[in-house]
Amino acid sequence: MATLDELNFNNRFTDQLPGDPELTNARRQVEQAFYSNVMPTPVVKPQLVAGSAEVAELIGLDAAEFDNEKFASVFGGNETLPGMQPHAMCYGGHQFGHWAGQLGDGRAINLGDVVSADGSPWTLQLKGAGPTPYSRTADGLAVLRSSVREFLCSEAMFHLGVPTTRALSLVLTGERVMRDMMYDGNARLEPGAIVCRVAPNFIRFGNFQIFAARGDMENLKRLVDFTIENYFPHLGEPGPEVYAAWFAEVCDRTCKMVVDWMRVGFVHGVMNTDNMSIMGLTIDYGPYGWLEDYDPGWTPNTTDAEGKRYRFGNQPMVAHWNLYQLGSALVGLLGETETLQVGLDGFLKKVEADSNAMMASKLGLASLDPEADEKLKQDLFVMLTLTETDMTIFYRKLATVPAESDSIDDDALLALVMDAYYLPKQVTGEVRQAIVDWLRRYQKRVSEEAVSDQDRAAKMNAVNPKYVLRNYLAQLAIDKSEAGDHSMIAELLELLRRPYDEQPEMEHYAAKRPDWARSRPGCSMLSCSS
Ligand code: AMP
Ligand code: MG
Repeated sequence: MATLDELNFNNRFTDQLPGDPELTNARRQVEQAFYSNVMPTPVVKPQLVAGSAEVAELIGLDAAEFDNEKFASVFGGNETLPGMQPHAMCYGGHQFGHWAGQLGDGRAINLGDVVSADGSPWTLQLKGAGPTPYSRTADGLAVLRSSVREFLCSEAMFHLGVPTTRALSLVLTGERVMRDMMYDGNARLEPGAIVCRVAPNFIRFGNFQIFAARGDMENLKRLVDFTIENYFPHLGEPGPEVYAAWFAEVCDRTCKMVVDWMRVGFVHGVMNTDNMSIMGLTIDYGPYGWLEDYDPGWTPNTTDAEGKRYRFGNQPMVAHWNLYQLGSALVGLLGETETLQVGLDGFLKKVEADSNAMMASKLGLASLDPEADEKLKQDLFVMLTLTETDMTIFYRKLATVPAESDSIDDDALLALVMDAYYLPKQVTGEVRQAIVDWLRRYQKRVSEEAVSDQDRAAKMNAVNPKYVLRNYLAQLAIDKSEAGDHSMIAELLELLRRPYDEQPEMEHYAAKRPDWARSRPGCSMLSCSS
């Protein structure tokens, strides 16, 4: 494991692709270039709040370096290491269904690509390190609140087995940043913070779209070739057939990511095409949220409250829409649309098949028969919405329901899942009967499988997490951290390293959202303000 000074950089993006010749840090349109060189803005007093030891290991950095003053200085943006080449990337994107033109890294600065011991490159990116040419009207900064949420959630998602960018560190800047959290005229000064994000690269659908939108086919091709050569080398030399295979793989990876979101109850909140990673990683943790009571129509993002475009249940179709936009950007390169259509159709088929397989695994079944089991599945989705039902707790408790037996009466059966209900008083009459009926059918269905209750429970518990970053838990950690006590961030980071384990001493973190959090901003409602 290396010290900070021993880290090795090989910045392929900036070495191989042309940058913006203009070197001033003024907001502008940047054409025919992939990035602009820009230094992080120095901060008053960088202080490390939290670090992820696993991510340090991933990039080959000795985690003991967290205690080195130089660490906070580098990852707070006050100094760079030899070999780094700080830059902000140029990209565009569709925001809420509309083409928005140039966006770019308005508050993210890539420091460079560190080469780990096994040779794999990892881009280090500071989020909130000051303005760039892409900052438009904003300040380039980030606050503690949103940075805690990004830091914890990226690591939690990784440990849940969901493809994601990672987070190395969370640094307080010692400065205050003005934010109007709910856009309601109540601006306040909040502590500034910077997260260092880590991923193989931070290339987004929007990086391709911006060249296509500007009719810059030469640079579009360069970016596609660069991406395939560096990150999809198994596909072979770039060329028409490889382009098609690459697009199909991007569709597959995006499918895996979104099906995983549906499995764990994650709502991204801002699935704009500038927030879609070409690697199929969950990227840009903003007003995301975790389903508490199961509601496919829920979105945590108040900016999206009206159309609810990015609601939980719509995520697979939005992923498809976004892939269509990426495909459209590639049409000029391919000269035809057929291969792209094949990829998009493949996505639709795969998302359906994979969602079915995912649901089977959540239910502890080897597979769900598209015909015989369809009603059981559809009725489950209806049952989960009859009364507020905590999704995470429900699936965890379902694992304790035994296969068909005479020995368990309705009351005892219901008692097994009762913890999942927010309003137990509503679990009477028809609602109670519908739940019991469904559980009886479930018992009968699992009896058809040649697997013991114990083995089924173990399988279910490996895909149905016990612990997720409940919205109110993140908020409690933020409240404490803003008051100077950062211990809950470390505690949640530790907890969420093993989300599928029982961890009996941590049981309180598996509890349903308390009533106070039902309508508190930050818990059930989030805006893009960060
Ligand atoms: P988002 O959808 O939140 O990922 O951001 C959309 C665009 O706004 C991206 O280009 C961001 O870099 C930019 N952006 C968001 N917040 C800020 C900020 N505080 N300062 C500068 N740019 C920002
Ligand atoms: Mg973004």
